[in-house]
Amino acid sequence: MNLTRSKQLFERAQQLIPGGVNSPVRAFRHVGGIPPFMASAKGAYLYDVDGNRYIDYVNSWGPMILGHAYEPVVRALQEQVPHATSFGAPTELEVLMAEQIIRMVQRLDQVRMVNSGTEACMTAIRLARGYTGKNKIIKFEGCYHGHADSFLVSAGSGVATLDIQQVPGVPAAVAQDTLVAPYNNLQAVDALIEAHPGEIAAIIVEPVAGNMGCVPPLPGFLEGLQQRCKERGIVFILDEVMTGFRIAPGGAQEKFNLDADLITFGKIIGGGLPVGAVGGKKQIMSHLAPAGEVYQAGTLSGNPLAMIAGYTLLRELDLNRHIYESLEQKTQKLADGLNTVFGKAGVVHQIPHVGSMLSVFFTEYPVNDFAAAKAASNELFRQFFHAMLNRGIYLPPSPFESWFVCDALSDADIAQTLQAAEESILEILPV
Ligand code: PMP
Repeated sequence: MNLTRSKQLFERAQQLIPGGVNSPVRAFRHVGGIPPFMASAKGAYLYDVDGNRYIDYVNSWGPMILGHAYEPVVRALQEQVPHATSFGAPTELEVLMAEQIIRMVQRLDQVRMVNSGTEACMTAIRLARGYTGKNKIIKFEGCYHGHADSFLVSAGSGVATLDIQQVPGVPAAVAQDTLVAPYNNLQAVDALIEAHPGEIAAIIVEPVAGNMGCVPPLPGFLEGLQQRCKERGIVFILDEVMTGFRIAPGGAQEKFNLDADLITFGKIIGGGLPVGAVGGKKQIMSHLAPAGEVYQAGTLSGNPLAMIAGYTLLRELDLNRHIYESLEQKTQKLADGLNTVFGKAGVVHQIPHVGSMLSVFFTEYPVNDFAAAKAASNELFRQFFHAMLNRGIYLPPSPFESWFVCDALSDADIAQTLQAAEESILEILPV
């Protein structure tokens, strides 16, 4: 694969931008090599600056559920641009957006728009602390909730990929209020609650973990967390930045029939523009400024371009709910095909998937937590990643990230992916 221009750009970028990228995992540090610099994207395909085409399983890390440059979103953006790119004043679009979210996600009373998933999670935690008057939170090892100080403890995603044990710059005084339990482990949660009676403001969880690879919740795990929160006045926060509008129209709250106190959103909710949101029960949400005193604000929050992109995408998903079945079928087909390919090659593997989230772990043991995810073979993943990239298949450049399937992915694309997987594994493990 010719990456001449990407290589030149990466060299220039490394002089000008720390690590050459504006978000760490894009730099391919874990897998090595040159990250292709992208020029355009349409449907399930990415095109780089050297003219290579890739079948995309990153999908901008989640937002592009219907594929890139989805026509209705593109048109809506074009129509909005001449009216205004930002007002910093309330708009009808924000009302439509709030109504749309509350229509799709059950048991949600109010929503506040922000500009990223990080902001959404940071706001949710401040709100939970302000509401309960307590400081400690429980999060799970390998889960990622953005890069706010409180969350960079045993975090997943790039923190796991770069194997950063302790993030310099996060004050110990802040980190000590973040208690950590292994994912899927209610006993560990009970132990933390008992060790810190009356001190815990919130439990925050990825309902399907996607930042240590895709790790589904075991039956009863989410329900168990919710029950403990209700019994003890702890705020139950679902981080649906990844799962929201992806694993069901109403996300994990709908799929697992949950009743979270607060839910955070990002990715799909912005249709590819920078958006996040925090929503939840009015009793808690009404503590946010200016209704209450828990302060949170944003110059560009509710930005009209971001709102029209997100609103248009959510409405499409709402009106075409069969898309979710089709996404699941595509993902199942991909998982089945990969199982066959790896099985035939005699490679130990696990392919957990939920809805249109999936990942590949080269291990013989089921992956239910971060320790198990870390025990899988990174070396095999690295080789597989590059063999696939050389064949035009763009996977997340880390085993600690979820693959995303988009609706634009065709049967032929899946067949090409499986063919590439078969060739790749033979190349890596010659018989
Ligand atoms: N929460 C989860 C579950 C995420 O996956 C991410 C991003 N991958 C975030 C929060 C942070 O979102 P952002 O990158 O938009 O700040």
